[in-house]
Amino acid sequence: MISNKMIGLVQNSSVIRAMFEEGKRLASIYGAENVYDFSLGNPSVEPPKAVKNAVIETISEESANLVHGYMNNSGYEDVRRAIAQSINKKFNTSLGEENIIMTVGAAGGLNVILKTLLNPGDEVITFAPFFGEYRNYVSNFDGELVIVSPNTVNFQPNLSEFEKKITAKTKAVIINTPNNPTGVVYSEETITALADILNKKQTELNTSIYLISDEPYRELVYDGIEVPYLTNYYKNTIVGYSYSKSLSLPGERIGYLVIPGEVDDFSDITAAANVATRILGFVNAPSLIQRVVAKCLDSEVDISVYNRNRELLYNSLIDYGYTCVKPEGAFYLFVKALEEDDKAFAAAAKKHNILIVPGSSFGCPGYCRIAYCVDYKTIEGSLSGFKKLAEEYLN
Ligand code: PLP
Repeated sequence: MISNKMIGLVQNSSVIRAMFEEGKRLASIYGAENVYDFSLGNPSVEPPKAVKNAVIETISEESANLVHGYMNNSGYEDVRRAIAQSINKKFNTSLGEENIIMTVGAAGGLNVILKTLLNPGDEVITFAPFFGEYRNYVSNFDGELVIVSPNTVNFQPNLSEFEKKITAKTKAVIINTPNNPTGVVYSEETITALADILNKKQTELNTSIYLISDEPYRELVYDGIEVPYLTNYYKNTIVGYSYSKSLSLPGERIGYLVIPGEVDDFSDITAAANVATRILGFVNAPSLIQRVVAKCLDSEVDISVYNRNRELLYNSLIDYGYTCVKPEGAFYLFVKALEEDDKAFAAAAKKHNILIVPGSSFGCPGYCRIAYCVDYKTIEGSLSGFKKLAEEYLN
């Protein structure tokens, strides 16, 4: 007998994962080269060589008991110090090891900070479209996810609706830029306006509202676009970072939280996050890979590969008559479905062996997500299918 809460969760279990399984099934029938699986955000670019070198160096040169042992639940002090210094250099912040908590990817970090902050019934606001797992992470701690409806003109957040949705119960706001599923980067103008609203509401309601910036795609940006570092715009910002995409290490489960010294109740929050890491059962972020990422702080995956995919896919889709905002970051493109029902549209795409994820999974019906972190030849192979699909609707 599983718990009532889990019954619902299993029923709603990730459409994206289900698609991934469907891709494997179709590949066994038609051959992998004839299936165009754009369902999962699993990096297709290999980790930089520095990662392999750092693994070898760590295993060969550091003490085995240190590399594989328990450490402070927040992570190794020297690793946290190195990360803090690297962020300071890049974003002109003044962080130290006390501001960094190593986490089990972004997912682990979000769960740690939500466990730290939420009382039952507390509200967490996010902007559609959003990473669907936020629903589960917030419900893990009996919080209420409040969703601001999408601005489908350019997918920047809808700030007037946001302001109206802030109440005395609002404990946190989660934003994700570069965004999954749209690939949009929130502009500096957006961030400044968002910070102004939060500051105004904090004063009006006499509360602290924490802005949680979920940024696993920070470095995955194109055309030299800047992604504002949120702690420099709003005092009560907590950053959740991950190496899953920036170093192509999603299976290693490594990331960190940044909790700047100026956030309200800093000491209580860092103490609680340290305990949350332990009692959520992770105990600490994986030890070996903590030591490895500290040696790869200036390394990045080769994003020119994703950029080439982006250009081919975007230009072709526009050519065929689709509508989408050109992604500025991450490796997703959010295309307008050619019928109202995005699930029916994804099903129609599947007839061409193209797997895409309905936007309703991201709180934005009427669109579909195409994850272009795939081989270039997969995009090339898919184009005739995308063209025929468009012709079915537009001719
Ligand atoms: N947040 C967003 C927006 C994501 O897209 C993902 C993964 O795709 C995550 C969090 C979880 O990432 P991680 O592998 O670091 O847990």
